[in-house]
Amino acid sequence: MKEWDVMNTPALEARIDLSAVSHNIGVLRAHTSAGIVAVVKADGYGHGAVEVGRAALAAGAAQLGVTTIGEALELRRAGITAPVLAWLHGGNADFGSAIEADVQLGVSSSRELDAVVAAARAAGRTASVTVKVDTGLARNGVHITEWDDTRDALAKAVAEQVITMHGVMSHLVRADEPDHPLNDLQTERLDEAADDLARVGAPVAVRHIANSAATLTRPDLARDLVRPGIAVYGRSPIPELGDFGLVPVMTLSAEVLSVKKIPAGQGVSYSHSWVAPNDTNVALLPAGYADGVPRLLSNMLSVQINGHRYRNVGRICMDQMVVDLGQNPAGVSAGDRAVLFGTGAGDGPTALEWAEAIGTIDYEIVSGIRGRAVRTYVSGPITGEVV
Ligand SMILES: *Cc1c(COP(=O)(O)O)cnc(C)c1O
Repeated sequence: MKEWDVMNTPALEARIDLSAVSHNIGVLRAHTSAGIVAVVKADGYGHGAVEVGRAALAAGAAQLGVTTIGEALELRRAGITAPVLAWLHGGNADFGSAIEADVQLGVSSSRELDAVVAAARAAGRTASVTVKVDTGLARNGVHITEWDDTRDALAKAVAEQVITMHGVMSHLVRADEPDHPLNDLQTERLDEAADDLARVGAPVAVRHIANSAATLTRPDLARDLVRPGIAVYGRSPIPELGDFGLVPVMTLSAEVLSVKKIPAGQGVSYSHSWVAPNDTNVALLPAGYADGVPRLLSNMLSVQINGHRYRNVGRICMDQMVVDLGQNPAGVSAGDRAVLFGTGAGDGPTALEWAEAIGTIDYEIVSGIRGRAVRTYVSGPITGEVV
């Protein structure tokens, strides 16, 4: 059987292997007995929040986490009834819809709490609140200077039965440096916040601070829940420490649209940033920077076609890019499939290679795949069958 079914495969495809999601949840569960909040923000890091969320829950994740209420409501509209937590809100966030849809709300200030309380009263329901504490990241979360006021406001809202105090959460600064003392200090501060809430009559049911890196390397920092994101998608949160047995979920591939011979001295693509040193063959691929292939990777990335690697030559354009086939000994032809990145098996290219070439992290690469890339979902080993 041919690996890729040309007729049924989009010209540019982001194939999402949901069995890899299940596998990765299994890897995470082997590292912790805490409940897993699978983070599916940013449309599941570019993999599809609904599909990945369902697969993660089926594999034993306890709940889902997202950034915005909009993202949470999308999960609810898709019929996902598991607990969902959303933790970043603008001034006109729709807390009312979130409360109606039973979305747990992360709250980072007393101003935000006031809005949640007002929405809960208007809806005639109690809001489930998780207070996000800033234990050092200085991003969102209640800062230490505002803690006492926020804590007291939370206790008051609990006493008035307009909210239930569900959790306390925080986010680590240096989880990718597992032995850094800040990890311990931040976790102590989380525990102190939880203790402080209990003292004022607003005890929390759950505490959580660990992301992927901490879940995999600092099991002692896990509290009731952990919040892995990138590991769910099969990417190592600390590449220097290896892959932890995770399997990358996304394979980005493009159809070879044409193969043509060009003579020595022919420049390729805008500005002729590459000029063929010899007579050669080039293949055209329908993938460009509007689809999330960074233009900065021009003349730096390589793709895999029928098991062989070929280098991109010339500028990566908005919609297209070119690879050099040399004398084309393997006989690449139109309709063949070029893997831009995938699991890395069989010396295949990876999103990590792209990231390292341009000084970023593979989180940015995978969450940036967009444009004409069509997502398809498979739940077995990659065979070309779309389920
Ligand atoms: C994105 C995010 C996570 C997941 O982080 P990973 O490094 O992808 O595991 C967890 N918690 C919060 C608050 C986040 O914003």
